[in-house]
Amino acid sequence: MKCRYCAVTGRRGRVVAVAVAGGFARRGDFPYHVRSPAGRRGYVCAEAAVVVERTVNEQKPDRDGSDAGFMRLALREAERAGARGEVPVGAVVVRDGEVVGRGHNRREIDGDPLAHAEILALRQAAANTTGWRLVGCTLYVTLEPCAMCAGALVNARVERLVFGAYDPKGGFCGSLGDVVRDPRLNHRVEVVDRVLEAECSALLKSFFAALRRKG
Ligand code: ZN
Repeated sequence: MKCRYCAVTGRRGRVVAVAVAGGFARRGDFPYHVRSPAGRRGYVCAEAAVVVERTVNEQKPDRDGSDAGFMRLALREAERAGARGEVPVGAVVVRDGEVVGRGHNRREIDGDPLAHAEILALRQAAANTTGWRLVGCTLYVTLEPCAMCAGALVNARVERLVFGAYDPKGGFCGSLGDVVRDPRLNHRVEVVDRVLEAECSALLKSFFAALRRKG
């Protein structure tokens, strides 16, 4: 089986999904809603699936204000991080249907252990609105927040957290602990999980696969 996309571009990728024109693609435990580049039935790898998904989304922008629509903006931020060699995690902060903050992981570029996507997006949102109390705001992030970012969400009084993929090794919004819904704290955050989970985790998986290939 050859990936259609890689066959066209000369790239190499492990086949993970069967692409059906405008339909649902599935192979093993990797469900993916993609269209093959040629618009015909074919096979695609994880990397290609992300590219194809993005292309399809850019052709049909989701501006209905849905969680998936804003998560796509967070995914674009994550891609920016990946393009700079950073672990691809992206975030946006939304208030009243408007994006008031954006951020992507810049830990390496900034040499800053605090430069996680969520922290940068929260800072920008605070600067763009009324200060540190981000009441009525929703943070969209491609990966389950770590303990630091979960703490920041509580401290910023963020109303809702929407995330894509779970992080079993570092997530503190359900995986290793649950800072955002701890009843002992003076603020709790409403959580929506697994929004565009396949896209969010495919981006991370292909980033780490490429790192391993480089050795
Ligand atoms: Zn974090």
